[in-house]
Amino acid sequence: MIKISAPKSHPRFLSLYYRDLLAEGVRIGITSLQGLTAHGRGETFDYLIGEKTLLFAKSSIKATAALLLLARYPVLSVNGNTAILVPKEFIKLSNLVGAQIEVNIFHASKERERKIKAHLEKFGAGRVLLPGKARISGIESNRWMISSIGQKKADVVFVPLEDGDRTQALTAMGKKVITVDLNPLSRTAQTATITIVDNIVRVMPLLIKKADDLKNSPPEKLLQIVERYDNKKILSEALNFINRRLHILARR
Ligand code: ATP
Ligand code: MG
Repeated sequence: MIKISAPKSHPRFLSLYYRDLLAEGVRIGITSLQGLTAHGRGETFDYLIGEKTLLFAKSSIKATAALLLLARYPVLSVNGNTAILVPKEFIKLSNLVGAQIEVNIFHASKERERKIKAHLEKFGAGRVLLPGKARISGIESNRWMISSIGQKKADVVFVPLEDGDRTQALTAMGKKVITVDLNPLSRTAQTATITIVDNIVRVMPLLIKKADDLKNSPPEKLLQIVERYDNKKILSEALNFINRRLHILARR
């Protein structure tokens, strides 16, 4: 049972609620301490975009839904933050697009991997893969372990809140990489195939809805959505939005 202490009447209840959730994630051995600071970095950028899903994020969500539906072998990568923030939504998305779920954490710990898997199973997940002996090419370290029937085999990987090195290496392996990252300047945001610049807690319900809307569309339509998508343009729209917004706020 997750313990939440944030008072509902607080004007920033939701923000406090997610902090409580992550702190509880640390207590039950799912989230890492470093995951808390990563969340803080995300919160900063969320303030800058006004804590809303903006048009550029909606375009990325649509392209993500189309790419996941077109994929031959899609894999959704779960870490200690996403497992605690959006467990049900991950399972729902994996069922909807026929994707594997793989636990993949930056600060490797077999125990934490098992706990994340058990946590997702508690929410009704079917198969949850753990990183095995396969590696993200080229680098010798625990951080690079992946499942041979998960990310190794995947043509499309959904890796929200991911580290830049791993994103770059997955892209270099020829995989299409989709991320969710509030920071449009991070190496992950800059190197992914699709970057959704928005908070994962707002993204997942919208992505599920979009995948559901598009799931019976002809492949040509899905392909057209993916081909028309331009990630560089989306990142520059995100930066321009922040820039304009700060100019307006500073002039008040
Ligand atoms: P990079 O390694 O890509 O250069 P980084 O080292 O700053 O970036 P990491 O800690 O490796 O970042 O990855 C976590 C990323 O996830 C951060 O960029 C952070 O802004 C983002 N993030 C954290 N919480 C959320 C959230 N709830 N929704 C979306 N993005 C988030
Ligand atoms: Mg990093």
